Amino acid sequence: MPKLSSFHRSRPSIFDTESNGDELEQLLSPHFERPSLRLTPSPYITEKSIAKRWDKLSDLTDKEQLLDPQTLDNATLYNKNIEHFIGTVKLPVGVAGPLRINGLHANNDFLVPLATTEAALVASYNRGAQLITAAGGASAMLINEGVTRTPVFAFQTLAEAGQFVAWVVTQYDHFKQVAETTTSHGKLHDININIEGNHVYLVFEFHTGDASGQNMVTIATNEVYHYILEHAPIEPKNAFLDGNLSGDKKPNAHTLRHVRGKKVTAEVTLSKSLVEKHLHTNPEQMAKFGQMTTTGAALSGGIGVNAHYANALAALYIACGQDAACVAESAVGITRMEVNAKGDLYACVTLPNLMVGTVGGGTGLPSQKSCLDIMGLSGTGKAKALAEVAACLCLAGELSIVGAFCADHFSRAHQKLARK
Ligand code: NAP
Repeated sequence: MPKLSSFHRSRPSIFDTESNGDELEQLLSPHFERPSLRLTPSPYITEKSIAKRWDKLSDLTDKEQLLDPQTLDNATLYNKNIEHFIGTVKLPVGVAGPLRINGLHANNDFLVPLATTEAALVASYNRGAQLITAAGGASAMLINEGVTRTPVFAFQTLAEAGQFVAWVVTQYDHFKQVAETTTSHGKLHDININIEGNHVYLVFEFHTGDASGQNMVTIATNEVYHYILEHAPIEPKNAFLDGNLSGDKKPNAHTLRHVRGKKVTAEVTLSKSLVEKHLHTNPEQMAKFGQMTTTGAALSGGIGVNAHYANALAALYIACGQDAACVAESAVGITRMEVNAKGDLYACVTLPNLMVGTVGGGTGLPSQKSCLDIMGLSGTGKAKALAEVAACLCLAGELSIVGAFCADHFSRAHQKLARK
């Protein structure tokens, strides 16, 4: 049995005036005994390495729950997606829809797979999707694309930084050539320069085809980065492949107005009677809610204004083999609701950072590919449509949650669905 005794000790608390300072010191200080839990040296997936990992783990948990026979049969399929594999976590998947989308790339009624353990989530997106469909569908338009990596170079002085930049601007064609030796689908289409004192950040922006592209742009930028280190007329005193200007997995103000991944805007107009029938409220109340919560969002200091894009995107990304950590930047955007001259509700969403792909990453794994197949969106030529579906799904969720708050159903719905 692994040594867990330290976890069972009664714990002193910093709030407990009676607590013994020595005990707290002992608990929080470094411990150098050899860990009793150790992994196999090889991170790869082989029958032998999985069995070896489970030698220790079977004492802790029910192996079958993670390593069921089907998972074991398919284990090697996960070789490009994970290290130190021990099995799979089963998540419930529901579908929301039909969601009618009249988009530039997505033009269909979609049943959207959502993987979550949060009650009320699928019900809410389903309600919003049906409302949009009853209104003839949401219009959606992909308006920009680009994924960046941002190497950073440090020089002795501002003058050196300036000389470096003067050389960089003569090298764009070389950089493009070098970057594109690593990928047949990735295209370097823009380079931006940001000077901060004697530091220079280069922002390399790529189109990534149907892949979400994080690996693609990292590999391509790395090639250029090393070309720069070899050929630059001024040697940087320090340099790193990424200077954290890309917004990778971080919400950030820059990409709110620009793009990271795919930028999509989507809208729908709902008649008063549809709002009453589906959401049990009215357009004026929804617009008022939008106005007051936009002020709330400004007061909170958040980037963008939306109710809960993260719910849709986390569930969609997990179901469809997207990088779930990119919800951090993808869930940034703007929702707006207004009453138009006819008394209808106009609602729109704009999401500038949808990091989605239909090839690469986790998209080819068995259950993730099945989820993309439900929407007819796996493989080549489908990533732009997936981005438009993601935006319209967010629109559905915004309508449903705002409707629930306006009708004072929000708490009741959760109580009914999560505590049943
Ligand atoms: P990837 O699976 O690493 O690469 C996509 C592959 O698909 C490339 O080999 C590409 O070939 C190929 N491909 C075939 N048909 C394509 C098409 N129509 N369009 C585009 N590519 C096509 O996936 P990725 O999207 O670049 O990276 C996503 C993964 O990176 C995610 O799993 C994410 O978690 C992870 N990630 C990496 C980093 C990082 O910095 N490395 C950071 C965050 C996340 P060619 O390139 O030869 O054209």
